[in-house]
This record gives sequence, structure tokens and C-alpha cells, in this order.
Amino acid sequence: MRYSKLFGKTVRDFPKEEVSINAKLLIKAGFIDKLMAGSFTILPLGFRVKEKIEQVIREEMNKTGANEMLMPLLHPKEIWNETGRWDSAREVMYQFKKENKEYALSFTHEEVVLDILRKKISGYKDLPVKVYHFSTKFRDEPRAKSGILRGREFLMKDLYSAHLTAEDLDKYYWEVADAYLRIFKRFGLDAKIVEAAGGVFTDAHTHEFQVLCAQGEDTILYCDCKSNCDCKFAENKEIASVKAGDKCPKCKDCKIKESKAIEVGNIFKFGTVYSQKMGVYVTDKEGKRRLLHFASYGIGVTRMIGTLVELFHDDKGIIWPKSAAPYQAHLISLQSGEKTDKIYEQLLAENIQVLYDDRDVSAGQKFADADLIGIPVRLVVSPKTENKVECKERISDKTEILELAEILKRLKKDQEV
Ligand SMILES: [Zn+2]
Repeated sequence: MRYSKLFGKTVRDFPKEEVSINAKLLIKAGFIDKLMAGSFTILPLGFRVKEKIEQVIREEMNKTGANEMLMPLLHPKEIWNETGRWDSAREVMYQFKKENKEYALSFTHEEVVLDILRKKISGYKDLPVKVYHFSTKFRDEPRAKSGILRGREFLMKDLYSAHLTAEDLDKYYWEVADAYLRIFKRFGLDAKIVEAAGGVFTDAHTHEFQVLCAQGEDTILYCDCKSNCDCKFAENKEIASVKAGDKCPKCKDCKIKESKAIEVGNIFKFGTVYSQKMGVYVTDKEGKRRLLHFASYGIGVTRMIGTLVELFHDDKGIIWPKSAAPYQAHLISLQSGEKTDKIYEQLLAENIQVLYDDRDVSAGQKFADADLIGIPVRLVVSPKTENKVECKERISDKTEILELAEILKRLKKDQEV
């Protein structure tokens, strides 16, 4: 992509009221635009990050045997009344009336999935069902101050699973938990599985995936596991049975620590609560009618973009992990275009994802913009590099002058990750 042709470039002015690091950097670098508090456009550069993140999630969901689909966002009141959530979740839901009929904009899809299941499932042979989609969610947020970490409208992957027995649900629940840990690891995040309250989803405890971060809105208490300890005890402060400095109740050895954290995912085991409310039954082997066992699992895609920026940046800009970066390489020309054009064409021919700053602006501005945008590898072509190319990683200060062939080899290797 030629930067001169890219819609949504780096900007000097951005909303002064925006206090979060993620929104400041993403707006300045041209990844997003703010419509109002908690409502953002994902510009072309940000769209590529969104696509990368979704692809990693998709790969790991598919490995668990889940099927991707797409559900509607406009829901009739009746379906939410079946579980009682039209009233109990009123605070977070956008609800409205149109010609005497009431609707909601979706913040989750348990009711819709169960409605599909009761139409499509008859016997135990149809189970388990594992379905997911990527879609927009709406949530009324009175305090939308954390940039794209907490939007009134945001993108999410939500997975739902239905099982004949509690044991089968439990097995898959932890399989998804493992898939989630793999996803976060691929983005360079060390997530903790934290026990938490279920909010508008369930009265039972649930599990959140939390990443330690000073800017996080959650507070967690966790076992500061020593090298030989793998107890991984962690609780959200909302329900915590311990405080900082206590001895860990699980391993009875290490100390409990307290930290701010960002919730990057959550999983909910509902058992038969929802299927009972909506009357979703299946016939087992013996011909007996049984209630479905049901669970749901979420990862915020836009929140993931914000989390990566909160954790991976410096005073110059964003530092994308390779798995989420919009492009692999940022090519800068410091001389007449012809030589760089040729290198750009060669990179494209080798399927390298490259952003080529072909603008007629100062070297200083090109370097500053490259640091702000945060693509993992910067390539510079100048009279000084002769027939070679200067290569620098965003995370390092070290520059190397390399043959294009060597650069291609390295960038090809990055694609294998
Ligand atoms: Zn412990």
C-alpha cells in the first residue's frame, strides 16, 4: 500500500477530551476516528489490525471444532422477555419503540442462539453444538472514557456451546479456556484466568481473562506464584476472598498480590438455567427429554486492539506485535522514488505486506510517522544504502544495512508465525 493513497493518515489534532493512551495513539496514528464518546470508526489501517486479530481468534476457535456464522443485532423484546433479561439487563441495553413494537440492540446472543437451537435440534445426535460469530455489540456505557477499551458500540467474537451433559460442557469449557490462552499468547499477552461475578449474565461465578495493566479498569488479586508454583490462583476484587499480602489459599505457600488489569475475555458456564427458561430440550439415548447444557465465551476484538496499544507503546508511538500489525514492513524512501519503487514491487511480488511512504515530505516526518504507526520492521532506501536497504525493528534502536534477499528471508519467516 502506498501511504499517499491510504485513507486516514497521521493527525496532529485529536479530541482534547480523550484521556486514554489507546485512543490518543490510535487517533493520532490514523487507525480510528472518534464519532462520540465510546463510538469510533475503524479506519483502513485499523481495519487491517481488526482483520489480523479476528483471523487469529478464528483459527483457534475452529481448532476446537466451532462453526462460524452471523446473527442479527436487532432483537424483538419478546425473546429477551423469555429469560427475564429485558428487565434485568435494562441498564446496559439499548431498548426502543417503533410503531408500538419494542426492540433492543444486541449486547449478547444467548437468547438468539437458544431460539435457533430449539428450532434446529431434536436429539442427542445433534449435540454438541459450537457456534460463534464476530459482530458489533451495543452496551449503554455512562462512563465511556477508556477509548476503545470500553465502547458503547464494539466488536466482539462470541461463541456459544450446547451439550447433552454437564460433563461434556465442562470438558469443552476448559478446552475453550486453553484456546483463549493460546490466542492471547499469540498477541504477546500473558493472561490470567480470574474467578469473577457473572454480572447481567449469571448469578454463578464465571472466569475472566485478565492482563495486568496499570490503565486497566479491573482490580485482581492473584497468587504471585514462585518459579516452582503453578497454582495460578486469581480472583476479581469484586468477589475476592483474599487481600494483598495474604498467604495464597490455594498453594498455601506464595503471597497474594493486587494489580489493575484489563479484561480481554470471559467465559460463562450457565448449565441448564437459560434452556429451562426458554424450554430447550433434547431427547437422549433412552428417549428421555433433557434440558440443554449451555455456555458462552467472549473476546472483545476492539478491546483487544486497545489493550495491545496500552501495553505495547513508547513515547514515540505504538509498537504492534507481529501477529496484529497492519503491515509487516514500513518502507521509506529518502531519495527519488525509482529505486524504492522497484524494491516496493519486489516486496509485493513476494507477498510481503508493506506500507510504502512515497510522500514528498521530510525524512523527519516519515521517521516520526513510522514510529507513531508502529509497524514491526522499518526499511529505509537512501543514497547511503546504495544497492542495499537499511532495516530496523520498531522495538530496537539497532539499524542494519542488508541485501534485499536477506530482508525477504526474514519477513517470509515472520509470516510463518
Ligand atoms: Zn498460590
